[in-house]
Amino acid sequence: MKGAISMQKKLNGTVIVTYRCNARCSMCNRYKKPSKPEEEITLETIRKLPPMYFTNITGGEPFIRTDLKDIVRELYKKSDRIVISTNGFFTDRIIDLCKEFPKIGIRISIEGLEETNNKIRGLQDGFNKGYDTLKKLVDMGMEDVGFGMTVQDANAKDLVPLYHLSDQMNMEFATASLHNSFYFVEAKNIIHDRLMVGQNFEDLINELLKSNSPKKWFRAYFNHGLINYIFGQKRLLPCDMAFDTFFIDPYGDVMPCNGTKDKEVMGNLNSQTWDELWNSQQAEHVRKKVRSCDRQCWMIGSVSPAMHKYIWKPALWVIHHKFLRFFKSKKYSMYELPIVRDYRDGKVTTEELDACSTCDKDCIANDGLSASSKEALTTISGEEFVEKDLASQEALLHSSDSNHS
Ligand code: SF4
Ligand code: SF4
Repeated sequence: MKGAISMQKKLNGTVIVTYRCNARCSMCNRYKKPSKPEEEITLETIRKLPPMYFTNITGGEPFIRTDLKDIVRELYKKSDRIVISTNGFFTDRIIDLCKEFPKIGIRISIEGLEETNNKIRGLQDGFNKGYDTLKKLVDMGMEDVGFGMTVQDANAKDLVPLYHLSDQMNMEFATASLHNSFYFVEAKNIIHDRLMVGQNFEDLINELLKSNSPKKWFRAYFNHGLINYIFGQKRLLPCDMAFDTFFIDPYGDVMPCNGTKDKEVMGNLNSQTWDELWNSQQAEHVRKKVRSCDRQCWMIGSVSPAMHKYIWKPALWVIHHKFLRFFKSKKYSMYELPIVRDYRDGKVTTEELDACSTCDKDCIANDGLSASSKEALTTISGEEFVEKDLASQEALLHSSDSNHS
């Protein structure tokens, strides 16, 4: 028998620590469908996760959990790198956590410049809060800090200005576009003016290609893939979710990704060990579904591992656009994609493109909640549920403050 040292392959994991959220985003209804705090993933379950080379902590809004520091501490025992995605609202909690974990990555979603962001996110003064948090983190010397923006018709024009803002602050700038899934409790998201949105992505791609940063050149490829996605085309790279990548939800259910229409469960880590779950027939069954999945998502969670695995494809694209077009003032045009040319030339209609998307106007989106969390929402709305919960957190904090004084 070979030594007892585990040679287990490291995975890429996303931990959805809560479905509670304090925002009111126009492209995501998760805030209406929160999980019950007492059902949310425990440290005991987190200890059962496998070794990971990368972990994303997300929600809902992860900083709603008052024990997030304990979760991060546990996850650092098994993960090489951790990034938390947040709406940036709970500035004090974010700063406090970063003081203890200065190497952690923080991505704050900002949906546009001030007016656009506040409209889309539905958080009072959301832009200033998010921006203020970002600035404080940079002032603290945090190195892995950035914005995330979900591009849609309403904010596409802010894409390049926001990129410039992130650049001035020396920050990462991550992009996404509208998706539909049980995770977002949404089935009706769709881009209407594809040429306008595509044009803004094209401008961003050219800005990224102009830079001297190889990381930004690969980001340009990711954004090229977003134009391809918006036009309803096949993913530029295979989707290997559930093979060396996983998501775990607040109930301990392990899933391939967050892009499926209904929740697809490979097993439950509250009741199983990781090895039992990962090698189960149910997990194999889900992997088969992934192999034939036609949703063509292009989200960083599934694309980043694919870009590493099939590196030659984005690398050739980068070489072509960054170096072979060296003397051209404009390095990239979205009309390189045949579908964009066909649409411009009237060979494909908007209705045909809409039919290629995952948007389904008649569908009632699934929410992936447990029976008990659903039950809790029969007498109270999701928004009220979270507001009450936050009020009780505040009350607890004040009572412990006065006990200490
Ligand atoms: S996108 Fe994020 S911040 Fe907005 S409602 Fe959904 S979970 Fe909350
Ligand atoms: S394309 Fe991949 S990420 Fe999207 S739903 Fe299918 S399996 Fe999930």
